[in-house]
Amino acid sequence: MSLRPTIDFLLYDWLRVPQLQSRERFADHSRETFDAVLDTCERIARDKYAPFNRTVDIEEPKFDGEKVILPQATHDACKAYAESGMLSAAQDYEIGGMQLPYTVEAAANAFFAMASVSIGSGMLTTGNANLLMAHGTDLQKKVFALNEFNGRFSGTMCLSEPQAGSSLSDVATRAVPDGADHQSDPLGPRYRLRGNKMWISAGEHELTENIIHLVLAKIPDANGQLVPGVKGISLFIVPKKMVDVNGQLTGERNDVALAGLNHKCGWRGTTNTLLNFGEGKYPVPSTGSGQAVPGAIGYLVGQPGEGLKCMFHMMNEARIGVGMAGYYASLDYARNRPQGRAMGVGGKNAASPQVRIIEHADVKRMLLAQKSYSEGALALALYCARLVDEQHTAGAEAAEEARLLLEVLTPIAKSFPSEWCLEANSLAIQIHGGYGYTRDFPVEQYWRDNRLNMIHEGTHGIQAMDLLGRKVLMEDGQGLKRLAARMQATMAGASDDWQAEARQLADALQQVGAATQAAWQGAEPAQALANAVPYLQAFGHTVIAWIWLDVVQSAQGDAPAQVGRRAAARYFFRYELPKIGAWLQVVSRRDPTCADVPEDAF
Ligand SMILES: Cc1cc2nc3c(=O)[nH]c(=O)nc-3n(C[C@H](O)[C@H](O)[C@H](O)COP(=O)(O)OP(=O)(O)OC[C@H]3O[C@@H](n4cnc5c(N)ncnc54)[C@H](O)[C@@H]3O)c2cc1C
Repeated sequence: MSLRPTIDFLLYDWLRVPQLQSRERFADHSRETFDAVLDTCERIARDKYAPFNRTVDIEEPKFDGEKVILPQATHDACKAYAESGMLSAAQDYEIGGMQLPYTVEAAANAFFAMASVSIGSGMLTTGNANLLMAHGTDLQKKVFALNEFNGRFSGTMCLSEPQAGSSLSDVATRAVPDGADHQSDPLGPRYRLRGNKMWISAGEHELTENIIHLVLAKIPDANGQLVPGVKGISLFIVPKKMVDVNGQLTGERNDVALAGLNHKCGWRGTTNTLLNFGEGKYPVPSTGSGQAVPGAIGYLVGQPGEGLKCMFHMMNEARIGVGMAGYYASLDYARNRPQGRAMGVGGKNAASPQVRIIEHADVKRMLLAQKSYSEGALALALYCARLVDEQHTAGAEAAEEARLLLEVLTPIAKSFPSEWCLEANSLAIQIHGGYGYTRDFPVEQYWRDNRLNMIHEGTHGIQAMDLLGRKVLMEDGQGLKRLAARMQATMAGASDDWQAEARQLADALQQVGAATQAAWQGAEPAQALANAVPYLQAFGHTVIAWIWLDVVQSAQGDAPAQVGRRAAARYFFRYELPKIGAWLQVVSRRDPTCADVPEDAF
């Protein structure tokens, strides 16, 4: 089964992406150029990623005391990805980019996420380089970002520490100025960093000439104290190997050492590391005395104290496409696995031939659930990507609207696919029965690989507090108001046979609005936010119901794919959306059951 028809439908029939051609930045593009990018990515994902998904799971990264060893397949896949030009797809022509709309870039990357999310496709590198393009100096862009775009270097993001995960204000890595002339380094104000960074993806490997770490650290005040809170956090470029102003390796190693590899449940194709910065394993000569001393050299990016703000620039769209692989595998299995007999009038006839399990209503239920979660999540991700293009290339008013919508939709774009595409993977195992629970079929790996999504880049609980505690309130609730207006426009445009669903969505929207108010009415933040996750779930289901209602307005005719889309949408409205009542009840009455249970009662 191919993802391509779904991508084509969403990009062309629903989002009408070729209309972006009217923007100056995309003037050279057309459906032909978009198709060429999609063709290339689909081919590389099929040839270099999908066949090796199991290989990279079995051959976990190993440290031989000097180097991290990865399977040859990972080297080949990453090389093919870099050669495709996708690392710099959205960049300007003048630096070798394609000026591709982000919507198309995101859609093209979905092929890799489906073929092997575990190998990864360089999204950390692109995100790292994009951040430098936004916040770096001209030389930082040239030396670091451009060499990431061309595939010579790769990138990481180093936020987490063993004692600071969700709570980044507790980051303890220190950065002190490196010598009296530290301000005059052409690569940026030069600091020495000391500290440990935990969970760093792609933190050590031999896939590229160099690894460019973007590291959050605190610059101590005049008394040598670290400033409490996130305001004290700054951002630094810390290359694994030192480079000169032309981006050439100087031959010196920076003081960044691998302390160990983490052995993960899934996503094993990508290394995950504990890194020690500045412990003295690779002392670096100081510019003054020339004497080698401990401390990792880092170049400040942007202003001191603005590190976290810059870091949020690193968007990660890895969740796109998750869930689809499991759906396709279980669909294929269900079409071929004979088991049980049809229920005729008066019961089953044991003498009749077996049916394939796709003929059982309950198996169809599980397939439709997977389809509604994963295609709904994919549609939402592409809708958000389209908003990113609006934000960057539309007129001022439309760009501002896109910004506000993205503020409120981002926690949903991160949480809905994480939770419900994982459920889709679980249902894929269920459809395979006992075989799904073995390593002879791929679905258990899909589940393990995607179990990460509710944890990294902000756990579910943190996304929920961001939504209810900040996003729906910020700027006088403008984000929520704009979202409601978009939903109302979809309801108003719904065709006759979708009127019942349009009314159901109006009711859901009203319930979400009322619960938002009730949660905050005269409440302390701790009370209002105690049930933030059920709120996030209800909000997410309302958003996906809206997305489906909007999508099916473009799904006309009797072609099987369109019938399938309409069935998935109906499934979502009838089996899923009603769940929001239970979720919102505890939010509205600020149910204290969880918050008040004493610890010793557990
Ligand atoms: C495979 C993998 C790859 C990763 N890659 C990177 C990377 O490349 N770079 C990087 O910097 N980090 C990375 N991370 C780290 C990831 O961002 C953290 O694991 C995540 O932020 C959670 O931090 P923690 O693990 O310390 O959990 P904790 O913060 O200790 O959270 C544990 C639990 O407590 C809950 N919790 C915590 N605080 C609160 C609160 N205030 N209110 C309510 N609930 C709360 C959380 O929701 C969670 O369920 C990666 C993690 C993994 C597992």
